[in-house]
Amino acid sequence: MSIEKGNLSIHSENIFPIIKKWLYSDHDIFARELISNASDAITKLKQLSMMNEATIDENTKFQIDVVLDEQAKTITFSDNGIGMTDEEIKKYINQIAFSGAEDFLAQYKDKSDKEQIIGHFGLGFYSSFMVAETVEIHTLSHQKNAEPAIWRCDGGTEFELEKGHRQTRGTEITLHISDDGKEFLNEYTLRSTIQKYCSFMPYEIYLTVVGKEPSKDDEGNVIIEEPKPLNTTTPLYVKSPSECTDEEYKEFYKSTFKDYKEPLFWIHLNMDYPFNLKGILYFPKLNTEFDTIEGQIKLYNSQVFIADNIKEVIPEFLLLLKGVIDCPDLPLNVSRSFLQNDGFVRKISNYISKKVADKITGLFKTERETFQNFWDDISPFIKFGGLKDEKFFETVENIYLYKNLDDQYVTLDEYLAAAADKHENKVFYVSDVLQQAQYIKLFKDHDLDAVILSHGIDSAFMSMIESKKEGVSFVRIDADINEHLVEAETMNEEEKKEATEKLQEMFVKALGQENLKMKLEPMKSESLSAMIVLSEESRRMQDMMRMYGMNG
Ligand code: ADP
Ligand code: MG
Repeated sequence: MSIEKGNLSIHSENIFPIIKKWLYSDHDIFARELISNASDAITKLKQLSMMNEATIDENTKFQIDVVLDEQAKTITFSDNGIGMTDEEIKKYINQIAFSGAEDFLAQYKDKSDKEQIIGHFGLGFYSSFMVAETVEIHTLSHQKNAEPAIWRCDGGTEFELEKGHRQTRGTEITLHISDDGKEFLNEYTLRSTIQKYCSFMPYEIYLTVVGKEPSKDDEGNVIIEEPKPLNTTTPLYVKSPSECTDEEYKEFYKSTFKDYKEPLFWIHLNMDYPFNLKGILYFPKLNTEFDTIEGQIKLYNSQVFIADNIKEVIPEFLLLLKGVIDCPDLPLNVSRSFLQNDGFVRKISNYISKKVADKITGLFKTERETFQNFWDDISPFIKFGGLKDEKFFETVENIYLYKNLDDQYVTLDEYLAAAADKHENKVFYVSDVLQQAQYIKLFKDHDLDAVILSHGIDSAFMSMIESKKEGVSFVRIDADINEHLVEAETMNEEEKKEATEKLQEMFVKALGQENLKMKLEPMKSESLSAMIVLSEESRRMQDMMRMYGMNG
């Protein structure tokens, strides 16, 4: 049989309902898509004017207006951007999945700034039909002698295109809201939707509510309020770190996360190579247990919000922080909250992780005191990071601090060096300051030192250090009788043996464990007359069995 080749065809009346219903997971996406298009329309005009292909009046203030009319059940999006001719409507609007943004970039390949154009797939506009029964476009192109045009579609596969009457350059898109979208006919809902996606968009966005009663002062006089944009057109993270003040960082944190506790410190990421990435990561101050930390990393693509906590892009341990990351190079798919899974995304994630490791290591080296003050709050993140990410560990391995019995913060090397003539490569630790208070006193009496490792993450952390640092072992303060605590002269071997046997008999009886092994050492201590210790190994084994629900 010979091979037959051809083009597949699509029946628009069948595919259209699918696009409307399934393409986007969230209804509220329409606001993002229409405002993105308005923003693109302005960006394109500005870029054309820079290429001398369009003229803009000097006094032009570019802005995007959203008007809500609850009575008429409409939401209107308008811009004073590039506008469309009827030919362009046919090309860009009528052809579903033909992107005018891509077309623009292709046409002005070398001259336009790709990062600022948001559109990509040629499908965003159709998200308006998720909430609207009829959509109407009134537009006037920037081109000389352009005729205004009106386009109308009721969500079927037919459209109407006619001569319009718009007199100023730009586009106005009116959605006649359907039952599916009626929740957006509410000022609060609409405002929060716009703020969710568009808080950092590059042109001012204003929301007006038709027929809204103006606010009045106590005497009943109307208060004339300056309209305020819903967004910040240059969010702090787009600025260069050298231009930002501590106050601005704190303010940005407060307004972005509505968190009124001050962050501990922050890391400002800013790079153009090998990919574009900007953002600020904040380390929160912990005043509660680790488990209750709720991180939030907001991901943006050219100042448009994509989603929170995308685990492909943000390394897992950093999801416990609060921050914003903007990466215009993200390989997003149509619905944008989904990323095309590829090596590039992993590279971004590795880069973020590396940057954070470098920054904290730098802080340790240049400002050890500040670093120490932060340590209690940031150590869970850094330990978690080390556990999760080998490369991260390699960068930070020598900056892990340990708080000792004198409340000093020492590194592993510092601790081991100080203890070198007493015990080699052994790190004594306290896992519960109250419960082990007697042992702490005993250690202090004998001029021995231990470190506090009492956090939930510490047992995993210690195992990791043991596996990475040859010879180093962690021993709980009550697990071994240190040789410095043993009184060598008071008992001879014979006496020791006898006493051990007696004690062993007693313990076997009391505990009902036949194979109990005991060792007896006389102790020199004024504060304790006797102590029972369980070897570090046996205790860890027991802890593990308990964890897996076995009886030890
Ligand atoms: P995309 O933005 O991915 O190109 P959309 O479906 O969102 O696709 O929009 C299709 C095209 O319609 C845009 O690329 C643009 O050419 C045109 N368009 C949409 N909205 C506007 C607008 N407000 N002003 C000018 N052109 C617009
Ligand atoms: Mg678009």
